[in-house]
Amino acid sequence: MATYDDNNIFARILRGEIPCQRLYEDEFALAFPDIKPQAPCHVLVIPKGKYVSATDFGAKAKPEEITGFYRAVSLVAEKLGVAESGYRLIANAGPDSRQEVPHFHVHILGGHRLGAMLVAP
Ligand code: AMP
Repeated sequence: MATYDDNNIFARILRGEIPCQRLYEDEFALAFPDIKPQAPCHVLVIPKGKYVSATDFGAKAKPEEITGFYRAVSLVAEKLGVAESGYRLIANAGPDSRQEVPHFHVHILGGHRLGAMLVAP
């Protein structure tokens, strides 16, 4: 598995070196809008810990970090007003997924009826 890059853009956001609109924050997670939204509601939720991907997070994070993170995802979906209307969670992991930022993150997408789950390459 790739080693964690302390200079990835989300690490820099967590350190406050790059600005973001902090929609939600607690000891486990930070949520902010995606800079290139793909839906009316497109928010990223990232754990505070240094994990490269979903694989890394699931393998190495402590149980309280995992619980705290996924509770934050649910809270953010509620806060965004998409919990009832519906939303999609996407977590790209590794090259075939086209993961761009090597800090684990979940995309929350919603706000209208979404298209097909997978699009051709
Ligand atoms: P992924 O392809 O799953 O790694 O997604 C990375 C996401 O991060 C993309 O949707 C980008 O638009 C988003 N992104 C990159 N830089 C920023 C930033 N500074 N603030 C908010 N979103 C960003």
